[in-house]
Amino acid sequence: MATTQPNILLVYTGGTIGMIKDPETGALKSFDFGNLLKNIPELKLLDCAMETISFDEPIDSSNMNPKYWVQIAEIIERNYTSFDGFVVLHGSDTMSYSASALSFMFENLAKPIIFTGSQLPIGDLRTDAKENLITSIQMAALQKGGKPIIREVGLYFEYKLYRGNRTTKINAEHFEAFESLNYPHLAESGVHLKVDYDAIYKPNARKKLVIHKNFENDILLIKLFPGVSESILKPLFENPFIKGVVLETYGAGNTTTEVWFTELLKATIKRGIPVINVTQCSGGSVSMGQYETSTQLKTIGVISGKDITTEAALAKLMFMLGEKVSIKTFKTIFETALRGEMS
Ligand code: ASP
Repeated sequence: MATTQPNILLVYTGGTIGMIKDPETGALKSFDFGNLLKNIPELKLLDCAMETISFDEPIDSSNMNPKYWVQIAEIIERNYTSFDGFVVLHGSDTMSYSASALSFMFENLAKPIIFTGSQLPIGDLRTDAKENLITSIQMAALQKGGKPIIREVGLYFEYKLYRGNRTTKINAEHFEAFESLNYPHLAESGVHLKVDYDAIYKPNARKKLVIHKNFENDILLIKLFPGVSESILKPLFENPFIKGVVLETYGAGNTTTEVWFTELLKATIKRGIPVINVTQCSGGSVSMGQYETSTQLKTIGVISGKDITTEAALAKLMFMLGEKVSIKTFKTIFETALRGEMS
């Protein structure tokens, strides 16, 4: 019998969510996702059809890297036309990086890709995994006029759906592990699922899906701190293999004005290496020129990350370098929101 129910594909990559306690030994072990419906009978009550695909060897997300991003993207690519939405089960530690990366990989995405995970294993009595999983599936299955409502890469955790590339993991203890300080939640789960229609991404429906799979990971992330020294920074910036730098600066994008530091950045930019300015603050934006301590950065051609997260800035830099964006247009393109990652 033909079904009109939305068809959702669950992609299990690893992480705590997929663990279950062996009733005999009490030890945590990997959950068999082929048996998902047997282990979580509540899923049968959902108004959608579901299939699961698991990584052959599920990973702790601390081992995540661009090769796995491509693996996730290719699973979705192979199944894109047969499913209405995708839920990616992923460890929470690097989920914001992966959600950011996938957002750049899928240009003109017209279906939901929802990342979720949990703080406690699915087999734990007090687990947050069931709610996260069930509501993520419901978010992915939301439709209006037979078309998905969410058409972007989201991250669902503890009653909130966020834009994936706006999130940061902020807590290793609380169930509310993520936050999106510079962008509103896309949806909230209370008695009803409430979607913020103004906040959700509106892709151009006439454009064809393009999936990008190249990343450059020879890049550097430097967090400034009072006392940062020339002897340590100089060899890092002068590394001949380096292709790009993300600089985590103070407040609204400020740095030390010591001459050696400005000269080091200037020489790096002259070598054709993009330097991105993102703030160490969890919320707010870089605004070069607002203080004297950032004016010099603007003059030498440092790129403004505006209100992007460090996770999304790294993913965007790796993606744009992988796409071989020319250094002439790099600054303009980086400072433009490609997938709603900056305001
Ligand atoms: N270390 C785990 C991971 O990120 C934690 C989690 O699953 O939340 O894979």
